[in-house]
Amino acid sequence: MLDACGRNIYYLRLSVTDLCNLRCRYCMPEEGVCKKTHDELLTEDEMIMAVNAAASLGISKLRITGGEPLVKKNILSICSRAAEVSGINELCLTTNGTLLPGLASGLKNAGVSRINISLDTLDAEKYAYMTRRGSLSQALAGIESAVEAGFDSIKINAVLIGGFNDGEIAELAALTMKYPVDMRFIELMPMYESGQFGKNAALPADEVLRRLPQLTPVSSGTGVAELYRLPGSLGRVGLIRPVSRPFCDECSRIRLTADGRLKPCLHSAAEFPIKGLGLEEMKEQIRKAVMSKPARHGGLDGEKRSGAGRSMNAIGG
Ligand code: SAM
Ligand code: SF4
Repeated sequence: MLDACGRNIYYLRLSVTDLCNLRCRYCMPEEGVCKKTHDELLTEDEMIMAVNAAASLGISKLRITGGEPLVKKNILSICSRAAEVSGINELCLTTNGTLLPGLASGLKNAGVSRINISLDTLDAEKYAYMTRRGSLSQALAGIESAVEAGFDSIKINAVLIGGFNDGEIAELAALTMKYPVDMRFIELMPMYESGQFGKNAALPADEVLRRLPQLTPVSSGTGVAELYRLPGSLGRVGLIRPVSRPFCDECSRIRLTADGRLKPCLHSAAEFPIKGLGLEEMKEQIRKAVMSKPARHGGLDGEKRSGAGRSMNAIGG
């Protein structure tokens, strides 16, 4: 599906819940979010109808996200039904990993082929601090269970935060020596309360290259990450630069929130509701959302904040 700028939009990120078992400081408030009523949220059938509508318009890659998708009781059913939708040929999922030990093989059997696991630190105290309630050992057990389940691709994502985890870049990158995973460093986006970490927190991803001069570039393919490799590693190191080098020109995605709003751009407040619509009306809304994708967002550097109008847990990262 081409948008008004001629970009091919083939990637849908579906947030199945805005709830989470963690409370990452850059993502959501400590008290959690006001629980929405059933009437406000997409039902499983509506989610699958939306995936069908999107696939019939050319969406072929689907990422299930949240909030934390693994807190959703019917997550395996959502994944297996989404994987069966004609036209969807890549089903991915993003998780904090803490609930993966009980679910990894079920997700694999349900059709999830690629999994992204968020992990910002390898220090147990820092992990507990940043997530306000998480346990590093559970997250690491999640990574182990993903490796055992044999997904086609496992990516570990760390948000790079100056003064918090920049001293751990080498240790995090070394996960690619131990596991066949890609370790990706993502620039902190000025959303929600990312400003609480002070002005030195927003590090450009170049910091990774400065700290690891032994990294050698490898072909990056079509993804948004620039890819490198440590000598002798099993996986790659990726840099994702939404702030220092926005990838709007290559944007291929739209998002659907758990409360049924299509978001054409992560950093714009524009939304197109689909809750309660039938298949044809959903298709029309998807077309409108795609055609309204801005050529680029307003920039996130310097003092500029994201115009998303929601925190990440309520959008679907
Ligand atoms: N709960 C799942 C997880 O943590 O992977 C999925 C949802 S979470 C919102 C998706 C991703 O968004 C996580 O990797 C998280 O680190 C990232 N994220 C949230 N707020 C961010 C921010 N302000 N800047 C950069 N990444 C952010
Ligand atoms: Fe939850 Fe993911 Fe947000 Fe952390 S980043 S609070 S794990 S939704």
